[in-house]
Amino acid sequence: VNRSLSTKALIIGGGPGGRISYMVLRTMGENKVKIVMNEEPTVICSLPYGVGRKLVPQGPEALVVDLSKGGRLPKDMPKDVIHGIVKELDIASKKAYAEGSDGQVEISFEKLILATGAVPWIPPVSGVLREGSSPAASEGKVTWVMYGNELVEKSRLAPNVYVIRGADDARRLDEFASRAKSVVVVGSGAIGLEMAEALHDRGLQVSVVEVLPHLSVALDADMASWIEKRALERGVKAYIGVSVTDVTPEGVALSDGSTIEADGVLFATGVRPNVALAKACGIKVERGIVVDSHMRTSHPDVYAVGDAVQVVDAPTGRPILPLIGTLAMRQGLVAASNIMGMPVELPPVTIWGVSSFFGLHWASIGWSEEAASKAGIPVKTIVLPVRTRDEAMPAGKNGNWKVVVSKEKTSDLKEGQIIGFQAVIEGDPVTNLSERFLDIIAAKESVPEILRHYFAHCPSQNAVDDPYLALFFNYQKSIAG
Ligand SMILES: Cc1cc2nc3c(=O)[nH]c(=O)nc-3n(C[C@H](O)[C@H](O)[C@H](O)COP(=O)(O)OP(=O)(O)OC[C@H]3O[C@@H](n4cnc5c(N)ncnc54)[C@H](O)[C@@H]3O)c2cc1C
Repeated sequence: VNRSLSTKALIIGGGPGGRISYMVLRTMGENKVKIVMNEEPTVICSLPYGVGRKLVPQGPEALVVDLSKGGRLPKDMPKDVIHGIVKELDIASKKAYAEGSDGQVEISFEKLILATGAVPWIPPVSGVLREGSSPAASEGKVTWVMYGNELVEKSRLAPNVYVIRGADDARRLDEFASRAKSVVVVGSGAIGLEMAEALHDRGLQVSVVEVLPHLSVALDADMASWIEKRALERGVKAYIGVSVTDVTPEGVALSDGSTIEADGVLFATGVRPNVALAKACGIKVERGIVVDSHMRTSHPDVYAVGDAVQVVDAPTGRPILPLIGTLAMRQGLVAASNIMGMPVELPPVTIWGVSSFFGLHWASIGWSEEAASKAGIPVKTIVLPVRTRDEAMPAGKNGNWKVVVSKEKTSDLKEGQIIGFQAVIEGDPVTNLSERFLDIIAAKESVPEILRHYFAHCPSQNAVDDPYLALFFNYQKSIAG
């Protein structure tokens, strides 16, 4: 050990969850805070747009957060950053051991926040990992992927295999996009689709491989058909219902025996919570780190926030992994406030995803019909065609809402309770709408209660038809019929 220090609060991980935890602790007056970071703080959510360069013309470099510039974070934050990885954690003696460009540091703490996030998951197919020795990652900047069930350093990925999670991944992809002609994107969740669009914007021929029977895992097949049509219109090739069985220097082999030639393969096949440290020191872990509504783990002085933790799904009471950046930030606020002696609880929550694909805006909040059916939750659905402006206005575009409603009363659900919402709409963003349905679903409201939500209309912004009324009457009709 080169250095020993002691602090009131230690945060492990410098993603959105860790950074907001730091900000809140400092803002509330705590000056003894340290944060261990093993990679540059970055606006992760915007990385696909950094690679695509349409929205971020300067490229991924513009998304790296300069901690000395302040902004919402305290300007003197760099003094509290320990650059490296926490390799060992001793909860009984409240000590963490970090190693990296700041040397070996022993940190004694009173309270701990685990904000270790998630790592990209790659299916264990051959050709993903490099043959022979891998280039050394720069000191203290080791990051990982989960290859099957094995946590491996990213530097072990084959030269034509890519993931997207941090600034270095985006730099690699940006450089790749500047010289490559074709790419296979494996996985068509929000990140896979955003990257497909980004690489198409950079002039690459993009092929998307999806193991499910349709593109876009968060949407049901009927809603996803809009996305599939848009992919076709833009020349993005979709290989649906097949999986990648091999990565080769020439491209990929698929489970149906066919091959796709491509200069590179980007895996956007989901992430797994990074729970290695929590597990090693005996903190309770199920799918993610188990926390209560105060973000406290099974140890009273250890909190956990962000993608590493599981939360209780408000509408169904089941444990879920939301994996959402803005939620990680809320959780950071909750954990830090509790450490400061101000009791705050995480409000009821569910899962959500909002994105766009070549001008088609989509959202999926809570449970899709397909996810509910897999989980054995009996549901019915109401699909509503919607317009963005009145029929008389050529600027008006079409879209669909789909509302997933519990069919019967169970121990967790009311009859008619809204447990899921999807929207696909041309042109106009669906973020505000998504927030409203997030509130409705988290509050366990049923369709008959929907009329408590007023509808504001202004011809230049939306169509006069009140979709909440349509939802209400369609539901009543479905009960009557
Ligand atoms: C391409 C992309 C697009 C996204 N788009 C959106 C979006 O539009 N909206 C949205 O809400 N969310 C989005 N997300 C999800 C969002 O980025 C994550 O939910 C968020 O980053 C989680 O924050 P976190 O702090 O929990 O974890 P992370 O961001 O994963 O940060 C954890 C950090 O801890 C580090 N770490 C782990 N173990 C150790 C250790 N032992 N020592 C030191 N450091 C360690 C990790 O290397 C990492 O740097 C997107 C994610 C990606 C990848």
